[in-house]
Amino acid sequence: MKLATEPIGSIPRTPELIAAITAPANGADLRSLYEKAISETISAFEQTGSPVITDGEQTKSSFATYPLEGLTNLSPEGMTINFEDGHSRQLPLITSGPFRYGNFAVKYLKAAQQQTKLPVKQAVISASALSLIYPQGGIEGYSQAEFMTDLLNECEKDIRQCLEQGAYKVQMDFTEGRLSLKLDPSGGVLKHFIDVNNQVFNRFGAADREKLGVHVCPGGDHDSTHSADVDYADFLPQLFNLNVGSFYLQLASEPDHVKVLKTIKQYLKPNQKAFIGVIDVLNPKVETKEEVRDRVLEAAHYIPVDQLGTTDDCGFSPFCDDVSTTRETAFAKIKARVDGTKLAEAQLIHEQQETA
Ligand SMILES: [Zn+2]
Repeated sequence: MKLATEPIGSIPRTPELIAAITAPANGADLRSLYEKAISETISAFEQTGSPVITDGEQTKSSFATYPLEGLTNLSPEGMTINFEDGHSRQLPLITSGPFRYGNFAVKYLKAAQQQTKLPVKQAVISASALSLIYPQGGIEGYSQAEFMTDLLNECEKDIRQCLEQGAYKVQMDFTEGRLSLKLDPSGGVLKHFIDVNNQVFNRFGAADREKLGVHVCPGGDHDSTHSADVDYADFLPQLFNLNVGSFYLQLASEPDHVKVLKTIKQYLKPNQKAFIGVIDVLNPKVETKEEVRDRVLEAAHYIPVDQLGTTDDCGFSPFCDDVSTTRETAFAKIKARVDGTKLAEAQLIHEQQETA
């Protein structure tokens, strides 16, 4: 038995890097700062003992907007996502077709692989999130149907390039899944989102889909959430209809773990694996490895061990300018996840031998 453990993706950027990104006019050498950020992040990641790492998304503008970098057919006033603490994030709108990514995730993967021998995981944004950049009023000469065809092709390409480049896993970030139930409690929008993303996943064969995963959470920006008040139990049954092998599920910050675990147990399919969040990324307190162990053992009561893994509840800074968590705290929490998962694994092996 080996309990898998994987990060979600992002690590806070250094104050120096954020200053250079947010005030580029100051003339900092962004390229060399990016290189330094990637190599420092990978080396710190390796020191946590994490068997799978990421580039910490050091050079992504955000988990959602990296494909839009450099595009000239966008206007700023798109959908707004409101967080509990009153702040918001806004998506742009596309103003003309065709829609092509300005930037593909494989670029980040390649840069990271050059710096490490460890397996590297790559996060990509969902087709459903980017579907929101098409304006409700339509675009003359570029229908929504044409846009969706372009979008699905680009999203497929984003994933396929990462698989061909040897990504350990490709994780689609689907934070708007739970949020959609807040905006449309009927579940119609969620069903549509799942259908859109499955149209991408269904373009891959079974072996590739085993390497594909989906991350969901109630949002995690400036230590605040956008949809923690949506009942997970309404969301999970639909979620497991996505045709991928791995699910990275925020859990540590949920008030009622057992209720969520029972729902996972009920709806997780035999060919799917649940990576449960054992690290609360919004809480500055670093978990002890014993706390993590206990969270894993609790989960093992409900989920078969060969379908169980651990992860962090979310990335530590999905948006590049979020400084609510320090890098030191993020890496200490990752180390706690890795060490606690090992402790749980040892105990589970011991229990198996006792019953054998
Ligand atoms: Zn998240």
